[in-house]
Amino acid sequence: MNRTFIPAPAVIREIIRENDRISTFRLEITDKTIPFTFHPGQFLMISVPHCGEAAISISSSPYTLPLIDLSIMRTGELTTAIHAMKEGTQLGIRGPFGTVFPM
Ligand SMILES: Cc1cc2nc3c(=O)[nH]c(=O)nc-3n(C[C@H](O)[C@H](O)[C@H](O)COP(=O)(O)OP(=O)(O)OC[C@H]3O[C@@H](n4cnc5c(N)ncnc54)[C@H](O)[C@@H]3O)c2cc1C
Repeated sequence: MNRTFIPAPAVIREIIRENDRISTFRLEITDKTIPFTFHPGQFLMISVPHCGEAAISISSSPYTLPLIDLSIMRTGELTTAIHAMKEGTQLGIRGPFGTVFPM
């Protein structure tokens, strides 16, 4: 995704509850004209209106694109806002960023 500073819209397709504080949010980038790929070990910046951004690692494989899994622990304002979201809600994502694992 060659848009370092512009969040791309992504919709929550599925929410998988892992435990009381962690859920996996399965996202899909809705604008198919935005090319997106990543490597294991990279993270995204997730933006939520009125909350800001937080770094979240991608917990799925590149082979499952265009679906992207983010396993998020409820800690502060932004992650609590994400945990209150339902399937179909739209988020902003920037990235990927970070050093990749040599798989
Ligand atoms: C490269 C990178 C990758 C990350 N990947 C993930 C990921 O895959 N999943 C994920 O859930 N988080 C991940 N994080 C952590 C996430 O970005 C932070 O937890 C973020 O600050 C949450 O934003 P918030 O507004 O909800 O909480 P904040 O308002 O920033 O924090 C609220 C309070 O909770 C405390 N806090 C914040 N995070 C934690 C924590 N993890 N453990 C204990 N106390 C904490 C803070 O010290 C603060 O007191 C990653 C961070 C980085 C830098």
